[in-house]
This record gives sequence, C-alpha cells and structure tokens, in this order.
Amino acid sequence: MGDSSCLSQHYEEQVRPCIDLVDSLRSLGVEQDLALPAIAVIGDQSSGKSSVLEALSGVALPRGTGIVTRCPLVLELKRVSHGTAWSGLLSYEGHSKNPVELRKPEEVGDAVMRAQNHLAGEGRDISDKRIHLEINATNVPDLTLIDLPGIARVATVDQSDDIEEKIKKLIEKYMKKQETINLVVIPANVDIATTEALRMARKVDPDGQRTLGILTKPDLVDRGGEEGVVNTLNNQVIRLEKGFMMVRCRGQQDINDDMSLEKALKKEKEFFSNHKHFRIFLDERKASISYLSERLTKELVYHISRSLPLLEKQVTDKLEQISAQLRMLGDGIPEDEGGRVKFLIRKIDEFNQVLTDVVKAEEDLGDSDTRVFTKIRNLFSVWKAELDEKDRRLRQKIDATAMKEYAKSHRGKELPGFLNYRIFEDLVKGHVKELEFPALGLLQSCKDVIYTNVNEITKSFFEMYPYLMREAKHNLESLRDQEYKRAEEKLKSQFAMERMVYSEDGLYIEKFLAVKSEMESDRKHSDFDGTTQHLRAYLKITTDRLANQVPLIVLHHMLDQYIAKMKEAMLGIIRHKDFEKFTEEKSEIAQQRSYLHSRMERLERAREALIKFVPV
Ligand code: GDP
Ligand code: MG
Repeated sequence: MGDSSCLSQHYEEQVRPCIDLVDSLRSLGVEQDLALPAIAVIGDQSSGKSSVLEALSGVALPRGTGIVTRCPLVLELKRVSHGTAWSGLLSYEGHSKNPVELRKPEEVGDAVMRAQNHLAGEGRDISDKRIHLEINATNVPDLTLIDLPGIARVATVDQSDDIEEKIKKLIEKYMKKQETINLVVIPANVDIATTEALRMARKVDPDGQRTLGILTKPDLVDRGGEEGVVNTLNNQVIRLEKGFMMVRCRGQQDINDDMSLEKALKKEKEFFSNHKHFRIFLDERKASISYLSERLTKELVYHISRSLPLLEKQVTDKLEQISAQLRMLGDGIPEDEGGRVKFLIRKIDEFNQVLTDVVKAEEDLGDSDTRVFTKIRNLFSVWKAELDEKDRRLRQKIDATAMKEYAKSHRGKELPGFLNYRIFEDLVKGHVKELEFPALGLLQSCKDVIYTNVNEITKSFFEMYPYLMREAKHNLESLRDQEYKRAEEKLKSQFAMERMVYSEDGLYIEKFLAVKSEMESDRKHSDFDGTTQHLRAYLKITTDRLANQVPLIVLHHMLDQYIAKMKEAMLGIIRHKDFEKFTEEKSEIAQQRSYLHSRMERLERAREALIKFVPV
C-alpha cells in the first residue's frame, strides 16, 4: 500500500487523532451502549467483498464458495510507524478476556475460521456475534471496516431455509445505523439494478448520503459493456450522494498463481492506466485500491467529526439513564450487623416518613400523579353530589301532589295539615336506607386509592429486598382489611342510627324556620305545607350529618389508622429477632449494580475522551 503513506503530511495531526478517538471509545467497550462510526462492507455473495477487504488490509481473509463470512468481522486497521513489527489481535464473545495474538498475516485466515466455527457452529449457519480483529501494520490505512455475510439467494443443503432472511436482517442492523458508512460492493460485470445489496442500501439511506458504491471485477466486463460501467461510475445510472469507485482485485487465477497482494496492487495500477475506457477514473481518483483507501479514511474522518455531537449526546443520555437506574437500586447493604441494623432503620424510617407525608398531603409527587388526599377529596365530592341528588329527588316526591297521594293511602285520624309522624318517619327511613349502599361504595373506592398508592410506595422502597417486601406486603394487606372492616361496621351503625330519626331541638327548629320562610316566599301553598316543611328541615339535617360523618369515618380508618398502624408494624421489624434476613437483597440486584457501575465508568471515560477531543 505504498500510496496510502503519501496521504497528506497533516495526516498525523488530522486523521490519526480522529480515528484514535473512536478506537479508544471502542476499546472502552462503549459500543455496547452506543453506535460508533464505522464502515460496513455489504454485497451479494461472491461480489468481491473479501477481496476488497484483503486488498485494503493486506491480510488474506477466509475464502471459498458460498457463505464464507458467517459472523460480522470488525476489522480494525491501525497504521504503525515504520520499523514496528506486524501484529494482530483477535477476540470474540467468550474470548474477549484472552484474545488470540497473531504474529503473521498468514495466521489470520485460520484464526478467523476458528472463531466463526465457535460462534456460528461448524456448519454454514450465521451468527450476529462479532469477531474483532485488530491489525497493526505499516502498510494499512487507519480504518475500521466491518465485513458482513454476503446476501445469499439460495440456501444450500446444510443451511436453514430462512438463511436469506437471517442474513438480510443481520446486514440491515448494521446498515441502518446513522453512524455506519455503507460500502456496497457490486461486480462491474452484472446489471447493477438487480443488486440486492444496493437495493437494501437505498432502502435505509434513500439519498445515498452514507452509501458508497464499489464496482469490482472490471477486468471481467464484456467487450461493449464498458459504457454502462462508465455511466455507473459517473453516477448516471443509480445516483448516490457519495458516488461510485472501482477496484480490481485478485481473480481466482491470480490466487491459484499465489500472486502476492503487493503484486496485485501493481497489476491493478497497470490495468487501469492501460484501459481505454477506465483510464480516466484513475485520473479522477475514482479507481484503484489506494485511492479507495484514501477516500475511505477521509470519509471516516468526516463521518466521525460529524458524529461527535450526536455521540456526546448519546453518552450524556446514557449516563443519565444509568444513574437513574442506580438510584433506583439504592446503595448496597453493609456486611456487618451494626451496619445492617442502621441500614434497616434508615430504610424503614424513610419509608415511614413518606407515609406520614401522604397522610399530611405533603408527599413528593413524581411526574404528574395527583396526591392521595386530592383523589380522596374528589371521591368525597362525588359522595356529596350523590347526597344532594337523593335529597332533590325526595323533595320532588314529597311535593304537594305526591304528598296527597301518600296521605290518601296512609292517612290516619289527623285533621288536614296535621302531620302523621309515621308517614314522616317512613319517608326519612326510606331515604336513609338508599344512602347506605353508595356510602359503602365510597369506602371501597377510598380503600382502593389508598392501598394502590401505599403499595406503590412500598414497592419502590422494598422491592429489592424479598423478605422485607413480603413482610411489608403482608402488613399492608392485613391492616387494610382490618381497617376496612372497622370502617364498614361504623358506617353500618351510622346508618342504623340514622334510622332512629333524631335531632337536637334547637338545631331542628333553626332549620325548620329557615325552610318555612323559604317556602312561604315561594307563595305556593297547600294543605300539606306543614309536612313538607318538616321533611325538608329534617332532610337538611341528615344530609349535613352524612356529608361529614361518612368521610370522617373513611378518613379515620382508611387513612389515619391504616397508615399509623402500617408505620408501627414496619418499626416492629427492627425489633424482630432475626431481623438480618430482612436485609437480604435479591441476588441479581448486587450483580446489576456492579454491572451498571462498570457501564457508568466506561461511559464517563468516553465522555472525558470526547470532551478532550478537539476536531481540527
Ligand atoms: P465475497 O463473497 O463477496 O467475499 O467475494 P470474494 O472476495 O470471495 O470474491 C469472489 C470471487 O471473485 C473470488 O474468486 C475472487 O478471486 C474474485 N474476484 C474478486 N475481485 C475480482 C476482480 O477484481 N477481478 C477478478 N477477475 N476476479 C475477482
Ligand atoms: Mg467473503
């Protein structure tokens, strides 16, 4: 690769830092969290992908017919200064801790094969687990290329039928990323319109902003076919923003003849300089491996500098996500007994404080949810509306005509205008009875609201500690049922009392006089005005009483008592003789915490690297 060494002399200042930045990010392992700029090589089977990669890297990759590349191969090419020995490092899932060291380019092929067999099995199946191959050499461009399986049209006997779909899905995963430059390899001797790889690239990148077309096998173009190839290279057939380039690699015969890659580069130069139609592309820097390698490095550097803001944002977002997750997990539990007691006390204390805030209607609200107390108030106002509605309907019922009807069938020996106390009592009792059911419904709804809320709080505090959670949940449910029962009894007895029909004299007369003057100013008189006035006065008293009393009972038991007892029960845990078990964490929590910590560390270092980097 003599030519790539004469890239501009600013190379060390401009290109190197950029590529180093991405390499250092990659070596931190941030790729698990975010996509790094890279070049993916895509093409139909036997289009010449491996040949192009070989020519660029100076390393012979596995070859053969059918699917040879069966896993994504991340080829990290690093140019080292003259005099440094060639070295390679191969790692893959399960082997990333002890990578395979390679000393000669010839060892690469076998090592990659072994890795593939390990990841995708011995057959011809594919896998999306990646192989990393780092190559340090004096004659490579600084590039990271990803070799992907070729798009197969027909499955061979030992492949599953869905192999084409599987490959396409794998390829698409890489092509889709905004950070990937798609290098679409197309043989010059086929109709480019029929290339599946190009079709896929256009699907994920319609304007061809990230797609560079590479024509291979120019030596196999039939006589007369040159014009079409020239048009393609001039971007006149299928337009790509980044256009097309052309290379000539070793053909089967060259390989059989054991032609070295160096020799192949010379032969390529000769081929283009002597070609009647294609010579011009050498002048335009659109043909040959060395111009391709120069172009790719430039593209990658451009792409990296463009991706930096996005990368920085991704890192920041990820860091935020992770620290939120870590906050959720809480700190680890101390090992020693004293520490554990303290931990438990603090945890329960915090929990109880939140419950206290709920009762005081001072709890911290998460995103947008309403306070428990507000929700209950809303339920109470529904109850009041219900009371008013029932009241209104009964008043309709006791208007003069209805009263007349009622008197017709129930009247005793009293003279007109006198009230039969039994009639009065019956109406009141009927009214009260109708209210009992909605009152119990109110209790039920309030119970649900409070339980749901406290349950959420409990989960947020104790979910990570199975024993603690179980105990809390038990308390939560049994105390809820206990207080519910008590409230229910009280409500029932309240309604039993209401059926007695009672009011303190002074209060009653006050209401009666008010109703009387209200009705008299209405000017509609009837024989039964007296009865109606009494009924209305008493109804007002009942309604007022129930409007307050029912919510009071509900609040007292379902909020005050329930939560007070819950707090007490939780404090009881601290005195439990084997409190230790309550401080046991779910085992996956500790694991997850340390996993998150390592991700966080990685990303923080990535952020540092990004902040320090000054693009030229
Ligand atoms: P892949 O399946 O896309 O990786 O394709 P390969 O790189 O294995 O190439 C398929 C065949 O095409 C091999 O036999 C290569 O030697 C041959 N080939 C690749 N590039 C050229 C070229 O420029 N000219 C000629 N004549 N043959 C080539
Ligand atoms: Mg291949």
